[in-house]
Amino acid sequence: MDDPLWRPRIFDAHIHMTSRTTDDYERMSAAGVRAVVEPAFCLGQPRTNPASFVDYFDALVGWEPFRAIQFGIRHHAALGLDPKESNDPRCHEVIDLLPRYLEKDGVVAVGEIGYESMTPAEDEAFAAQLALAVAYGLPALVHTPQCDRVRGTRRSLAVVDESAIDPGRVVIDNLTEVSAAVVRDSGCWMGFSIYPEATMSPERMVDLLQMYGTERILISSAADWGRSDPLLTVVTAKAMLAAGFGEDDVDRVFWRNPAEFYGQSGRLDLSAVAESSAAVESLTAVESSAVAGSRAVPDAPAAAAGAV
Ligand SMILES: [Zn+2]
Repeated sequence: MDDPLWRPRIFDAHIHMTSRTTDDYERMSAAGVRAVVEPAFCLGQPRTNPASFVDYFDALVGWEPFRAIQFGIRHHAALGLDPKESNDPRCHEVIDLLPRYLEKDGVVAVGEIGYESMTPAEDEAFAAQLALAVAYGLPALVHTPQCDRVRGTRRSLAVVDESAIDPGRVVIDNLTEVSAAVVRDSGCWMGFSIYPEATMSPERMVDLLQMYGTERILISSAADWGRSDPLLTVVTAKAMLAAGFGEDDVDRVFWRNPAEFYGQSGRLDLSAVAESSAAVESLTAVESSAVAGSRAVPDAPAAAAGAV
C-alpha cells in the first residue's frame, strides 16, 4: 500500500544551474530534488576564446557543487563543447582542454555534445568528444536539434554507431514522441526534457512511459535561463502517480535510472543524499555548517571540488 506521506526523491539528469538562482536550489530541495547533473552548454553570448571555457568549467566543478550542497543537493557535471559553439573556430581548442577536466572526480559524463545545425564542424566535434568519452570511461549526453529532429536523431545514432562507445553509455536527449521511436531500439538511453511550453509536457511524458515502460529513460527539467521550470521533474513524478504508476516506478525513473546511467562513470557519489531521511538530516547539518562557515565562501569551491 502506498504511503500517503511518501515523497519522491528526484535526480534531475540535466539542468543548467549556472543560470538559476539560489532561490531555485531552495525550492528544488523543498520539493525533493536531491541530485543534479549540470552539462556544459552555450551561454548565449558567444565566447571568444578557450580561456572563457576554463573559468566556466571550473565553476561547474567547483562553485556550483558548493552552492548546491548548501541545500542538500548533490551536484555533478558533464563537460564538453556544445554543438553550437563547435561551429566557432575560436572555440575549437576547447576540445584540447577537455582531457584535464574529464579526469576530475565530479565529472560524470561528456556533454552536451551532438548536433544543432548538422555542419561538418559539428560532425568533427561530436566524433572527437565521443572518442574522449571512451578514453576517459565516461557516458555521453547527446543533445538533439530543435529543428529537423528526426534527421538529427538518426544522424546522432549513426555517429554513435561509428564510434567505439557502447550505446548503453549514451543518452540521446531532448526527444519527442517522434524522435523517441527512432532511439527506442538503438541500445541508447532515451532522454526527455520537460518544458513549460513545447518539446515535452508532463502529461505527454506519462503517455510515453505507459508506451515504453520505465527502463533506460532519463527525465530532466533541462532548466536554463529560457522559459523553463526546475520543478517540472516533480510535477511529472506526481503525474505518473496520478496516472496509476507506483512509487517504485517513480523512484526508478527519477532516481535509480539517472544513478545507473551516470554511475557508469564510476564517479557518481550520492552517499550524502541517497536516502530521503538521510538527505533531510544532511540538509539540516549542511545548512547549519553553511551558516557557521559563510565567511569562508571564497575558499569553499576549491574545498568542495576536492571533496568529490
Ligand atoms: Zn541543456
